[in-house]
Amino acid sequence: MSTTTVARSTAYKRIATEEAFATPEMIKLYREVLAKKSIDDIGFNSMWGFYSGSPSERAQSIIEKLQWLDERRIADMDASGIDIHILSLTSPGAHVFDNATGTALARSANDILADAVARHPDRFAGMVAIAPQDPKAAAEEIERGVRKLGFNGVMINSHVHGEDLDDQKYWDIFAAAEALDTPVYIHPNTPSDRMIRPFLESGLDGAIYGFGVEVGLHVLKLMVAGVFDRFPQLKLVIGHMGEALPYWLFRLDYMYKATLNSKRYASWKPNKLLPSDYMKRNVWITCSGMPWGPAITFAQQVLGADRVMYAMDYPYQFQLSEVELCDNIPMSAQDKKKFFQTNAEQVFNLR
Ligand code: CA
Repeated sequence: MSTTTVARSTAYKRIATEEAFATPEMIKLYREVLAKKSIDDIGFNSMWGFYSGSPSERAQSIIEKLQWLDERRIADMDASGIDIHILSLTSPGAHVFDNATGTALARSANDILADAVARHPDRFAGMVAIAPQDPKAAAEEIERGVRKLGFNGVMINSHVHGEDLDDQKYWDIFAAAEALDTPVYIHPNTPSDRMIRPFLESGLDGAIYGFGVEVGLHVLKLMVAGVFDRFPQLKLVIGHMGEALPYWLFRLDYMYKATLNSKRYASWKPNKLLPSDYMKRNVWITCSGMPWGPAITFAQQVLGADRVMYAMDYPYQFQLSEVELCDNIPMSAQDKKKFFQTNAEQVFNLR
């Protein structure tokens, strides 16, 4: 880990768009259900069994920093050259619980986050946490979060008890987000029980690879199911350089057309646009965990400089001098300001 601090830039604000927090209540609940082994979800037990129980410095530091919504977090932001954290409840948030527990946890986390943003309005913004397992309550919480609490997006920690949001029973969530013109950020979860076994066998279920595959698949399922035709104004944000999807665009388009024309799957209804069109109309990506010039330059080239944003992934990938990797990418001054500041201001409707 680098130890060199970085000053804030005078040329642009650095807005970090995928920055995690947890409430003490959520950590306590996680520890209780892990001790009782009452959550039947292999990925949850793998990920949170590690973070909440490991004596390693990494796990202990992350558990502590996740709960900082005060001057201690701001000191880390200052030391790493970050102006604003757009905060979201860490994965899997409220997804793993029953409807009532999940909905109550999301609401209380939102109240705590709204208080923190009110105390530090120049440094924090927030996304609404929801329990998507109860889509109607989730849609109501999105409205409360945006209208009453002043949040700037919705965080969805991907699959919900093994189901993805391509199932129409979840589409009230997209309807609410579209109506409020607020973006939906799909953040990784560990792969569901249906998907996780080969990843887990090799220790690849987490952020190293399983996360990216899980969200990339989720986004493609939304496309195939017609979410972006039903909700053409929906704004979706995904991290980790678009979970590899930008690199796949050519083949996605080619094979989408070939598969559709061959009538191979009766379940496929023709979409209005191609996968690459939706990626350039409905999807924005962030470089969370991937402050890597070649990938960022490539994504700007194929998606457009208006669609690629900065994120650090605090505290999971917190390095003091990390932003310098992005500062030093060859890019016009105008595009760099879009990357660090103005794209996020527009997508998240920051004041
Ligand atoms: Ca993250």
